[in-house]
Amino acid sequence: MADRSAESAEVRRFWQRLGLPGLMDVHTHFMPERVLRKVWSYFDALGPLTGGVEWPITYRAQEDERARLLRDFGVRAFTAMLYPHKPGMAQWLNGWAADFARRTPDCLHTSTLFPEPGVEAYVRGAVEAGARVFKAHVQVGAYDPADELLDGAWGLLAEAGIPVVIHCGSGPAPGKHTGPEPVARVLARHPRLRLVVAHMGMPEYEDFLSLAERYGEVRLDTTMAFTDFSERLAPFPRRALPRLAGLGDRILLGSDFPNIPYPYLHQLRALERLELGDEWLRGVCHHNAARLFGLPGH
Ligand SMILES: [Zn+2]
Repeated sequence: MADRSAESAEVRRFWQRLGLPGLMDVHTHFMPERVLRKVWSYFDALGPLTGGVEWPITYRAQEDERARLLRDFGVRAFTAMLYPHKPGMAQWLNGWAADFARRTPDCLHTSTLFPEPGVEAYVRGAVEAGARVFKAHVQVGAYDPADELLDGAWGLLAEAGIPVVIHCGSGPAPGKHTGPEPVARVLARHPRLRLVVAHMGMPEYEDFLSLAERYGEVRLDTTMAFTDFSERLAPFPRRALPRLAGLGDRILLGSDFPNIPYPYLHQLRALERLELGDEWLRGVCHHNAARLFGLPGH
C-alpha cells in the first residue's frame, strides 16, 4: 500500500480542529482473508451488486497494515463488518470475529446473523461472548429481515440494546428485500431494536430518515453517503438537510474502509461540506458512537 503518512496527518488535523479525542468509525470491514479477497475480486469484476460502477479499492493491504492505518488516522474504535451470503456461514464468521476482536482491542467485537434454524442460539452465544455490534446485510444475504426465523434474534438484540448495522437500502443495486418496507415491519414488532441503517439508507434516504424520526433507537451511518462517488449515483436530496440536522445525535460516522474507491479523508470532507456545523460534526464523527458504545471522552 502507498505511503499514507500525509493522508494520516490530514485526517488527524480534521478531528483535532474539532477538539475531538479521535474518530469513531462504526462501519469498517475486517473478515477472514479469503472472504475479503473474494469481496475485492467481486468489486474488481464489477459484480452486479456494485451497480456495475467502477470501484477501485483504495486500501488493499494486509490486515495488520489496515488496522494500523486506522490507528494512524486516529480512529479510536472501529468494527469488523462481516456477513454471510448463505446459510451455515454466520457461526464460522462469528468465531473468526471473536478471535479478531481478542487480538484487536480497538475493534468493537462484531457478529452477524442469517435467517436459519439455530440463529437465536448462536446470536445469544455471541452476545454472551461479548459481541458489541452486529451486521446484517439484506442485499448480499438476499433475505427478508422480517423473516420469522429472525424474530427471536431481533427480540434478544433489542432486549440487550446491541446495535445492528443493517445494509437495507437499495443502493448501489436493489435486492429482493431491500428498501424501507421490510425494515419497517421489523421495527413494528421490535420498536426498541437499535438498528443502524447503513449508507444513510441510500438511495431511499428520506424513507429511512422517517423511520429514524419515528423510532428513537434507529440510527443511520454515513458510510459512503455525501461523497462525490455516491452523489453521482444517488444524490442526497438537499431538502432533507434539516432532517439530518434534527437527527444529529443519531447519525454515526461510517466509512466502508478499506473497500472504498477514494481516500478516507474524502468521507470526512463530504460531511464537513454539508455545512451543518462543528457541533453536528463532533456528534457524528465521535460523540454519538462513543455514547452508544460506552466509550469514555464524550
Ligand atoms: Zn460496508
